[in-house]
Order: sequence, then C-alpha cells, then structure tokens
Amino acid sequence: MQLEFHGAARNVTGSCHYLEHNGTRILIDCGMYQGKRELEEENRNDFGFDPVSIDFLLLTHAHLDHCGRIPLLVKHGFKGKIITTAATRELARLVMLDSARIQEEEAKYRAYKKNKRNKTDLSFQPLYTTVDALRSLDFFVDIADFEVAVPLAPGITATFYDAGHILGSASILVEHTHNGSTKRILFSGDLGYNERAIIPDPATPPDCDIVVMESTYGDRLHKSLEPSIDELYQAINSTIARNGNVLIPSFALERSQEILYYLREGVEQRLLPGDLEVFLDSPMAISATEIFRRHPECFDEETWEVLDKGNDPFEIPGLNFSRETADSMALKQMRGVVIIAGSGMCTAGRIRHHLRHNLWRKEAAVVFVGYAGTGTLARTIIDGAETVNIFREEIDVNASLYTIGGFSAHADQRELVTWHKKTGKPGRTFLVHGEEKSQETLGSLLEDTEVEIPTLHQSYSV
Ligand SMILES: [Zn+2]
Ligand SMILES: [Zn+2]
Repeated sequence: MQLEFHGAARNVTGSCHYLEHNGTRILIDCGMYQGKRELEEENRNDFGFDPVSIDFLLLTHAHLDHCGRIPLLVKHGFKGKIITTAATRELARLVMLDSARIQEEEAKYRAYKKNKRNKTDLSFQPLYTTVDALRSLDFFVDIADFEVAVPLAPGITATFYDAGHILGSASILVEHTHNGSTKRILFSGDLGYNERAIIPDPATPPDCDIVVMESTYGDRLHKSLEPSIDELYQAINSTIARNGNVLIPSFALERSQEILYYLREGVEQRLLPGDLEVFLDSPMAISATEIFRRHPECFDEETWEVLDKGNDPFEIPGLNFSRETADSMALKQMRGVVIIAGSGMCTAGRIRHHLRHNLWRKEAAVVFVGYAGTGTLARTIIDGAETVNIFREEIDVNASLYTIGGFSAHADQRELVTWHKKTGKPGRTFLVHGEEKSQETLGSLLEDTEVEIPTLHQSYSV
C-alpha cells in the first residue's frame, strides 16, 4: 500500500493524504492552505496526484483546511465519491460556497487594483468558482452512521468514528484485507477532547497498525474549560460595565455556536446580565447555527437535556442575527454589546471593520477564543503589537485583550498522547497537521511506535 502526504505536512493547514492499494485510490481530506501568502500560494500548485484518478475522498470534517480544495479537485476532473457524515456534508457546502465567493471577490479585486484587463494572467483567476463548489456537491454520499463499515472496493472498507472536534467530525479507519491478513490505517482527522459543549466526547479509537494523527497542540496544554468560561463572563461583565464593546473574533463553525451556548448558560444562570445584547455578525455563522439545529443526532447528552426542556441551546433573549451588510455597519453606533464576527484569525471578514472601530478604544475588549496562526492579524495583536494596520490605516491597540485557550476545538498534548495510547500500539505513527516544533515534541512522547514526520509530497510504502 502506498501512503502519501500532499498537505498539512510540517504545517497545520492543507490536509490531504493519499492512499493507494491494488489500483484503488483514496484521498483523506482535500483542504486549503491558510495563513501566510507563501502558504496560500501552495493552493495553486500541483496536487501531487492526478485528480481524475481518485476513486474516493473520505472527508473527516468541514473545516476549510480539510475541505477547501474539493472544488479545485472537481474543477480538475475528480469524478469519485466524497464520503462523509450528513452534518459534515451540510457544513462543507457552506464552507466551500463561502470560500468560492472569497476567491471570486479576491480575483476581481486584484484585477481591479492592478487595473489589468489581461484575463489570461492566472493570478487574477479565482482558484475556483461558485459553480465548481456547487458541482462538488453532486459527489457527496452520506455514511449511514458512525462505526459502520463502508465498503469501498473488494477487501477495502472505511469506518468513521466520532472525533469530537466539530459537528459531524470523524476519525477514519481504512482497512484492507489481502490473502487473509488485514491492515488497518487510522486517520485521526482533527481531534477534540472530553467535556466540550454541544458535541459528544471523541469515541474510543479502534486498534490499528498505522496511525496518521494531527499534532496541532503537540507541545501545549490547554487551560481547563471551567476557568475559561469564567474568564469569558468576567471579560464581558467588566467591559459592558464601562460601556465598551466586546469583540469576539470567531470561526463560523462550532466556535460561534459554542460561544452562543455558553452565553445562554451565563444569562440563564445570572452570571451575565439578563439584558445582554449579542450580535452574531456573520452570515456564515448564522447559517451554520441553522445547520446545527438540523442535526441534533450529533449533540451530546447535556445539549439533549436543553432540547428536552423545550429550549433552544443557541437562543439568548438579546441575540440578534446580522445577515445584511447594513445591519453590520449599524453596529458602529452600538456601545456595551457583544459582537461575534469572523474570521477567527481576523484575516478577513467583518471582524476587521469592528476592530478598526473598537481596537483603539480603552473601554473595548477583544476576546480571542481560537487558534491564531503565525502571520495573521489575530496573532499580531495577541503578540502585543502597539499598532496594527487595518484597511491601510494605523490603529492603536488600546482595548483590553483576552486570550482564552480553554475553548480550543483541538486536543492538547496530554489528550493527544492519551488518544494515541488507545489505538493499540500501532507500529508506525505519521504526524501531520502541526508546526514542526509541536510535532517533534509530541513525537518524543509517543511510546512503542516508529514516529515519522513526513514532508510535503513524501511517499511511503506501508
Ligand atoms: Zn478542524
Ligand atoms: Zn484542521
């Protein structure tokens, strides 16, 4: 069997792993590179395989760094099946369409800026279009359930296990049986951890011979969740008390719903003001919240208890959805409110407008509740910049800053090591989806296994 790494190799984004056995070609994820410009340029490079030849794409979850290059794959002739959970299919639809819109807008903007009419210049062509994203949807097939094997080809099956990372997320076991012996390769996907809101804990992974695992936080331990929720409430209460706005840059998927869930709990338990005004200023996060509401089968017991009482887990009395641009712009006049907007790393989206209007105000606060990659605006602010450049304007950073680590959607070092121990002593472990330092640290902690840290396009016989 041939195992190749065509993304998220010694970095976090662009997940794309390739498996070939007896002429059956399988991809696990086809994600987009995100972050620094050089990294994003990688999206325009060759996949490292022929998209036409791929039979199956097994999709672990709907984050852009896992599904973002699917429309590109389809544009280049992919005609296989994309197998995933129903919740992931719905969320991926949203993510791919949003990404296509951004690609189209960016291409238009670049062409306009350079005042070029030269349509043959490829750098002004969108990576893919809305049409490509829509076409991708034709190839999706839902799995029946977690932990039910899906036959792919004679002797080859794939089984999805709940990864507890975001709604519908999975680890995927690929098994192939040949001459009576079975080889089992487990792809962790992105891993969550126990006790998070809304979604269940990650399932116990199956025993395997080879594991390909994420290592985002291989060198870090998270703060625990309870103090993080307290810190969120404290940040909101003190900022609202001085009539400042609380900006929460947030990923549209999962994190926004998680924050809404905790804000509802805070209001219910009177830990936050009953008249708290919250604006979810992201059409994508609003749509994602609707998708969450359609997939209660992915909820954990606590969230089911909320539903059983007839309550909506994401509903707060003072919650407003700002879908239209005009609604978003009107927030400029607001004081003493909570604004949740994308993007999580502040690289694009409405949050940049809110930062421009609030970052220089002493009474405001910015609460970072997610991962901030190197080179992103969020990272620059977190790292203590005194001024930042937003829309070609120097903005002073005077607002209070909070970095609340406990809301991560990823397992931390201890949880990754524990998860690995449950995979039944695999002979080989390939670390992906992490920066090198994190991978090396995690690798040194894994016992009874040969650890590999593949480079981009590296190929192994397994
Ligand atoms: Zn993810
Ligand atoms: Zn990821």
